[in-house]
Amino acid sequence: MIPYRLRSDAFRRYGETHFDCLVIGGGITGAGILLDATTRGLRTLLIEQQDYAWGTSSRSTKLIHGGLRYLKQLELNLVREVGRERAIVHRNAPHLVHPEELLLPIVEDGSLGKYSTPVGLWLYEKLAGVPAPERFRTLDREETLDAEPLLNERIVRGGAVYREYRTDDARLTTGILKAAARQGGDAINYARATAILHDEAGQATGVEVEDRLSGKKHRIMARCTVNAAGPWCDEVRALEGPVEGKRLQRTKGVHVVFARERFPVNRAVYFDVAGDERMVFAVPRGRCTYFGTTDTVYEGATGYPQTKAEDVEYLLDAARHMFPDLKLEKDDIESSWAGLRPLIYEPGKDPSELSRKDEIFQAPSGLLSIAGGKLTGYRKMAERITDKVSALLTGMTGQPYRDSRTETIALAGGEFDNYAAVGAFKQRLLGEGRQVDLSPAWAEHLVDTYGTDAAAILERAYQLHQQETDADRRILRAELEYGIDEEGVCTVSDFLIRRSGRLYFHRPALEANIGFVAEHTAKVLGLPPEAAAEQERVFREDYEAVLAFRS
Ligand code: FAD
Repeated sequence: MIPYRLRSDAFRRYGETHFDCLVIGGGITGAGILLDATTRGLRTLLIEQQDYAWGTSSRSTKLIHGGLRYLKQLELNLVREVGRERAIVHRNAPHLVHPEELLLPIVEDGSLGKYSTPVGLWLYEKLAGVPAPERFRTLDREETLDAEPLLNERIVRGGAVYREYRTDDARLTTGILKAAARQGGDAINYARATAILHDEAGQATGVEVEDRLSGKKHRIMARCTVNAAGPWCDEVRALEGPVEGKRLQRTKGVHVVFARERFPVNRAVYFDVAGDERMVFAVPRGRCTYFGTTDTVYEGATGYPQTKAEDVEYLLDAARHMFPDLKLEKDDIESSWAGLRPLIYEPGKDPSELSRKDEIFQAPSGLLSIAGGKLTGYRKMAERITDKVSALLTGMTGQPYRDSRTETIALAGGEFDNYAAVGAFKQRLLGEGRQVDLSPAWAEHLVDTYGTDAAAILERAYQLHQQETDADRRILRAELEYGIDEEGVCTVSDFLIRRSGRLYFHRPALEANIGFVAEHTAKVLGLPPEAAAEQERVFREDYEAVLAFRS
């Protein structure tokens, strides 16, 4: 993750390198490919047109889950694969992937039946290879209401509790990118592929890239180019001409965020919307509970969709039906996000019926594109496409490459022996942080966000001891400077939205720090003072946009 100050050197070096593999797109799919390809010995570069994880990979439901509802669509292979991946992602990043019990309430006129639900869960866990102590349990009506007293007692008939994992999608993407960078992989943000380069025989030979921070264009050569542009996959394919064969269908999904005290569920609740076949999640996370998602066809062209009043109404109706006593209102919402699913178009199917499977397309030029899939299955998607890249390269050069090794590679910050070690590390950090007045809340935030890399932030905080007398400012500044040097932070939005999740989960407390973060970012990046105001202005657009549905 090239830091801002090294960007021009990096572009010069890239111009002089002939990469084995060039990946377009810095979401979780591209990040997974970078890690897989780099650790097989392929010289690989990833370019991202905005910030890393700017696309769908910071706007999902943030669950590492096997997709229980795909059983209904008989997608048994998908459930088996992503179900089994859950334990691997948890093991490789235990600070970011937390076991989460999900309650499935069985309700009158709902799509989950008293007998069909245990059968479905049994099959789900069988396919996912869930060990005995972690298997589901069924609850009768009283037990369900005891477990979650806020549920609508007029409609609840029973329930079941099973286990998935909760994560932070953008941090997971960052952890993969950092792990790849530590193995020698290259990644640069604010670098957009504007053309695919070809030789005289029409074979793809690399990419023309625009550095969006300087406006300069560069030509980067690669033996293999992989399009992992998620919802923009077809736009990248269109750089070579009209898109033929299968194409994408984008669907929009919205989540809204409440303070936990306003929506105080004890655990995640997963239920079907009355009069609709769709399922929604209420997920507790720290001081918040978030709720989603919608699933509507999105035909907008570029840019990113926003949360609209009709999305909010749909979600509030669903929440009010299941949790009537809460009397949730629009004004209770603290933040929101809207994401685009990059699904493969299938004629005649509704958005929620479209398969979540991934597919690989190979153009006559050799350009490989991968689309569809899930956050949870990123590692297997990366393995499949890197197998293809390796085979193509072996065909070109005769050199063999190793098989994927990512099953056992810890993500950056995830170097813990087991899940319990994450808690022990928090305690250790808290002890060591006494000298810089590290509070329990800060220790929690740093370890949940950066894992073992939190120690490097604490180290920076020690060095700032004399310069920053206020403890919160000192640690915030250490975190920001770490982001700029180690995680490619170039803007206020990169830091406050994707590296630290503050816009979504701590919006009410943000106001006090926006000005400081803008000024300090501009200072560390060596930008003129007016750049701080511009950075702040751009961030404030996102800051306002998450609640724009209110007006
Ligand atoms: P993206 O994250 O969108 O990344 C593609 C990147 O390519 C973007 O950052 C974009 O800027 C970049 N790009 C585009 N064009 C160019 C170009 N020309 N040059 C350079 N870069 C370019 N999955 C789960 O497993 N669990 C969940 O709980 C879950 N919930 C979801 C909820 C919602 C609402 C949505 C929408 C999806 C959810 N998913 C979930 C699916 C999952 O989030 C996506 O499958 C995954 O994030 C897609 O990642 P990606 O890298 O393919 O795409």
